[in-house]
Parts: sequence; structure tokens; C-alpha cells
Amino acid sequence: MVKLAEWQGKSVFRKYGVPLPRGEVARSADEAESLVRSGKVPLPCVVKAQVLAGGRGKGGAVRFANTPEEARAAAAAILALEFKGEKVREVLLEEKLPIGRELYLSVTLDRTQRLPILIASTHGGVEIESVADTEIDRQAVDPFPGLTSYEKRRVAKLFGLSGAPARSLDKLLDAVWQVFQREDAELVEINPLATVGEGLVALDAKVIIEDDAAFRHPEYAEVRDDRTELEEIAREKEIAFVQLDGNIGVIANGAGLTMATLDVLKELGGAPGVFLDLGGTDDPKKVTEAFLLMARARPASVFLNIFGGVTRCDTVATGLVEAMRQVPASERFPLIARIRGNNEKEGIEILRSAGVTSVSDLRASAQAAVDAARGRP
Ligand code: ADP
Ligand code: MG
Repeated sequence: MVKLAEWQGKSVFRKYGVPLPRGEVARSADEAESLVRSGKVPLPCVVKAQVLAGGRGKGGAVRFANTPEEARAAAAAILALEFKGEKVREVLLEEKLPIGRELYLSVTLDRTQRLPILIASTHGGVEIESVADTEIDRQAVDPFPGLTSYEKRRVAKLFGLSGAPARSLDKLLDAVWQVFQREDAELVEINPLATVGEGLVALDAKVIIEDDAAFRHPEYAEVRDDRTELEEIAREKEIAFVQLDGNIGVIANGAGLTMATLDVLKELGGAPGVFLDLGGTDDPKKVTEAFLLMARARPASVFLNIFGGVTRCDTVATGLVEAMRQVPASERFPLIARIRGNNEKEGIEILRSAGVTSVSDLRASAQAAVDAARGRP
């Protein structure tokens, strides 16, 4: 997922004509102060941490300033923060607007209805997850005609707008829709969308670009995201690899089996740390590559749970044994295997010859992986 920071999202908004406060990005307290002194950012202003996590307002990562000195101090304080595990490297300085109401607006994909969905609420400025369902309006949008005037009027009515403000909303909704479609976004969120006098202004911006469309948007290639170094390598090799907080490595095939395996480990008191979804791969070379990547994450134990459908158990086992040979002795970890299905016997035999026993019972094998990891970092 390409998640844009607020300022990046806002620069996309600017291109499409979504009304915004005037603002500039700073990477140091000095820079923040001079942006204010030079008048590029008017006073009073807001100083906002540019991190991907939300809830900055409540978490002290959004501060107000009335003088250049205050702007400097706010920037210095925020740049020293580690907000929800993310180091703050940039702040956005913006004019502080005299806001009236705080509304909520977003367009995202509804995977159940397989349609874009326009979400609106009069309860903006708080995380939408905390707003009662009855206070949230959802409209599925047919992507071919796009947003219709009927849908836009419904939002205007919900927001209680008519006349000039309703016309501004109409334009704003068109712009938001354009951002969603043309940028291949999976989420465009404005929270809050503030009323300022007769107008509407996007005070916050959250834009996520659909990963599968990234190739159409080389302009986002440089965008920092939250992938770890190993995840980045995996992505380049087209391996589905995710790092979590625990210490047990999981290798499975298919999203369903992979998720179920994580659940079982958790239920047995284990903490999955990395998981690797081999998908339909049984190319031994690819399995070796994936396994070596897993080894680099230094798991305490690894649980291999393969169901051979299209995938052949023996070729997976061959790749695995080859990979194990390549892991230096000092970096070895206990490997617990459970392989079932297509060419199971051959697979089990290949593993056995390399000293790995395959346990066919899911709980028993998962328990063995949890036990093996216990007491190891
Ligand atoms: P987050 O969603 O991470 O908490 P926001 O950008 O939504 O951060 O800001 C939090 C709150 O700060 C907003 O709900 C709004 O009340 C206030 N705020 C943000 N930007 C401005 C601004 N330019 N002018 C006035 N108030 C602002
Ligand atoms: Mg917000």
C-alpha cells in the first residue's frame, strides 16, 4: 500500500482543486520558524507531525502557534517525537483557520459490494471507527457514471448545506471523486472537512494508492511507506512476506491457510513474527529464496504448514532442504513441518532425510513450534 503523508495527500488535493489551508513542510525548527517569519505560513498557525498514524490531534502531534517563536518551539517538540512508533521527520505548518463545524468525508472501496463507496458524517474530527453507525451515511457509487447529482445532494442535505455552501460541496465532491478515480486510490479521506464561513476546507488528508495500480503512478515510487527492509526485498522478489512482532516464523500457502496458521499459533500462546505465503509456488528455487529471507528475520522457530493442492509437497520440501543447507549453522532454528496433500509421502521423505519430521496433526505440530520458540529471543 502506498500511504501518502498528509502533506503529500494535500498536494494531490491541490491539483484537483480541493480547498485547503495555506501550508508548507519543514524538516527542522529553523526552517519552521523562517517559514512563518517570511510570511509563507500566516499566523496563527498549526504545526502537524507528518506521520502515517492518525489521532495526532489527541496525541500532542498537532500544536498551535501565535508567534514565530512558538512555531519554532512547536516544531522542535514535534520533531523530537516518536509518534506511535514512527519517528517524526517532517512537520506541516498551516494557517490556523477559524473553523465552524468538523465534518467527515471519504471515498473508499467496498469489497463486499465491489463498488466505490462515498462515506459522510457530521461527526468529523474524531476517528470514524468511534462514530456510531447510525451517524454515518454510506452510498455505493457506480464507477461508470461516477458521482451523480443525486448522491451529492444527499451529502449536502446530511451536512445541512444549501445555496453557496452546497455549491462548494458539489465542486469539492467532484474533486474528491476525481482524486479517487484518476489516482487509483483505495482511500481518499478528509477528516475533518471543516466549515469556514460560507466555505468548506479540507483540514486533513489521508490518501492510499492501490498497490496493484502503482505501476501506473511512477510519481509515487519514492513515497516512504511502512515496509521493513526485508519486506521491501520480498516485494521486489514478488514474495508475500510480512513481519509482525512475535518470534515464530510461519510458512504456509494461500492466504486462508496462512491466516489460520497464525490464529492457531496465537491460540496456543505463540507469537507469530514473520509469515510467508508461498501462494501457488512450488518452484524449489523460489521456495529456497523465500526461506532464506525468512532466515534473515532470525525467527526462534519456524512452522511450515503446507497444503498440497496445485502445489506439490515434494517440490516445496526440495526447496526447503536446499535452503536449510545454505543457512549457516550459527543461524539455524528449529523447523517444524506439517505437509499434507499432493505428493505428501515424497515430501515427508525428503524432509525426513534432512532431519525434519512432519507431524500431520495441526495442533500438535503448531504446539511443537510454540514450544521450540519458548525461551528463545
Ligand atoms: P489527526 O486526524 O491526526 O488528529 P488532523 O489533521 O485531523 O489530525 O487535526 C486534528 C484537529 O486539529 C482537527 O480535527 C482540527 O480541529 C484541528 N486542525 C487541524 N488543522 C487545522 C487548521 N489548519 N486550522 C484549524 N484547526 C486545525
Ligand atoms: Mg484527521
